[in-house]
Amino acid sequence: MNTSYEVVMGLEVHVELSTKSKIFCGCTTEFGGEPNTHVCPVCTGMPGVLPMMNKKVAEFAVRTGLALNCDITRKNKFDRKNYFYPDLPKAYQVSQLYFPICRNGRVDIEVDGVQKSIGIHEIHMEEDAGKLVHDPWDDVTLVDYNRCGVPLLEIVSEPDFRSADEVIAYLTKLRDILMYLGVSDCKMQEGSMRADINLSVRPMGQKEFGTRTEMKNMNSFKAIHRAIQYEAKRQIEVIEEGGKVVQQTRRWDDNKDASFAMRSKENAQDYRYFPEPDLLPIEISEEWIQNAKDTMPELPEAKRARYISELGLSEYDAGVITSARELAFLFEKATELCGKPKEVCNLIMGELMRLLSETGTLPEDVKIEPKKISDLIGLITEGKINRNVGKEVFEAIFKDDVEPVSYVNEKGLIMVDDVSLVEETVEKVIADNPKSIEDLKAGKDKAKGFLVGQTMKALKGKANPQTVNKVLNEKLSEILK
Ligand code: ADP
Ligand code: MG
Ligand code: ZN
Repeated sequence: MNTSYEVVMGLEVHVELSTKSKIFCGCTTEFGGEPNTHVCPVCTGMPGVLPMMNKKVAEFAVRTGLALNCDITRKNKFDRKNYFYPDLPKAYQVSQLYFPICRNGRVDIEVDGVQKSIGIHEIHMEEDAGKLVHDPWDDVTLVDYNRCGVPLLEIVSEPDFRSADEVIAYLTKLRDILMYLGVSDCKMQEGSMRADINLSVRPMGQKEFGTRTEMKNMNSFKAIHRAIQYEAKRQIEVIEEGGKVVQQTRRWDDNKDASFAMRSKENAQDYRYFPEPDLLPIEISEEWIQNAKDTMPELPEAKRARYISELGLSEYDAGVITSARELAFLFEKATELCGKPKEVCNLIMGELMRLLSETGTLPEDVKIEPKKISDLIGLITEGKINRNVGKEVFEAIFKDDVEPVSYVNEKGLIMVDDVSLVEETVEKVIADNPKSIEDLKAGKDKAKGFLVGQTMKALKGKANPQTVNKVLNEKLSEILK
C-alpha cells in the first residue's frame, strides 16, 4: 500500500433487532420460514392499513444508545424515505432522518495495544425491506416479503477509521455489546448485522477528506478486510494516474476479489423524505431512561476487568471467555456454584474450546448447564475421578448432555486409589517389561514414563496418577539401588 496516503472510513451498520414481532405489526421476525408466510397487510403495505409502533424497538434502541455513550433524543419521530424497489411493496421505508433516537456516542477500541475512540454520529430506528431471490437456474427473480418490517437499528459512525484493523475491532466490539444487551443476535451470515463501508483516501497531512465511495451490505470480517484493501488501492491508483474518485456506491464481489460500481451520486435517488403521518412522535421519559440504565447488564469490558481483578483470570483467558455472552454466563454460573474460577476457566479454555473447533460449534450456541460443570469439577477436586477421566466426562456433557455424577458411576470411572491394587498392577507391569528396566538401568529415564502409561492402561485410565507415581518410584528404587 502506498504509505503517502491515508485511508479514511466511516461505517453505517444495520442490525436486526431480536424482538418477537415486527416494528409496526404483529408478524413474527423469525429468520427463514416459507417465503411470504410471515406477512400481513401492514408489512406488505396494503392500501389503508395503519402501522402501530412496537414499544420494544424503542426500548432496545435506548439500551443500545446508552451502552454506546449516546445522548437520547427525548422527542423523536419517524420519516418516510420514498423509493421504488420490488422488495419494498409500500414504495417507502419508515426511518428517522431529522430526529434520530440516539446521537453523539462513542465506542472505544484497541488495535495493537493502542486505544482509540470511534465517534457515533447517530443511531436511528427503521424497518427492513424484503428480499429478492435470484434463481439463475430458471432465470427468474422471486420476492420474499418475510423480512419486510423487521426492526433495524442503523448505527452511523463518524469518519474516524484509518485502517481495516480498526474497522474489524469496532465491529467486533459492537457485536459483543449488542449481543450482551440481548438486542440482536448479530449473525452476520444471516444478515442480522451488516455494514456499509464509506471509504476515501487523502494525501498524508491533508486536512480535507477525499471523495468517498460506499460498499454496501458487507457481512463477513474476511470480506471486509479484503474489500477495504482493494478499494483503498483502487482510489490511490485513480489519483496517482491524475484521475478523480467518483462518489458512488460499489458492490464487493468476494468471489472475484474486486468491487464494481453500482450507481454514482449523479443519479442517486432523491428520497423526498417527509414526516411519517401515520405514526405519532415518540416521547421518551426520564423514568424510561433511568430504568434502562438501572437494568443495563454488565458489558463485556467491565466483565473482563472483573474476571481479572476479582477472579484471578489472565487477560487472555478473560478476553476469550467474555467474547461471547454464553461463555461468560457458563463461566460465572459454574464459578458461583463451585467457587473455583480457575478450574472452570481451565475447562472452558481447554476442553470446551477444543470441542467447539472440532465440531464447528459457535460459542453462542453453547448450551451447557452450569451445574454440570460445577458437579464435574467437584468430582475432580474431591479426587473421585482423575483429570483425564474429567476430560472424557466433559466431552460426554458437551456431546450428549449427560449428568456427570451418574455418568461416572454408570461407566465405572471412579478413580482407583486402592494402593494394594496399584501395587499389584505395578509389579505385574514391571515383570512384563524387562526391557524398560534394562533401559532404566542404562540411564534412559524415558522408560519410566512408559511404565506409568502401562500401569494407567492396565487400570483403564482410572488410577490416581499420584498414587501410581509414588508406588512405581518405590518399586523402582528397590530394583535400581
Ligand atoms: P449519507 O447521508 O450520504 O449517507 P453521511 O454524511 O450520513 O452520508 O455519511 C455516511 C457515512 O459516511 C458516515 O459513517 C460518515 O462517517 C462517512 N463519511 C462521510 N464522509 C466521508 C469521507 N469523505 N470519507 C470516508 N467516510 C466518510
Ligand atoms: Mg447514509
Ligand atoms: Zn405484518
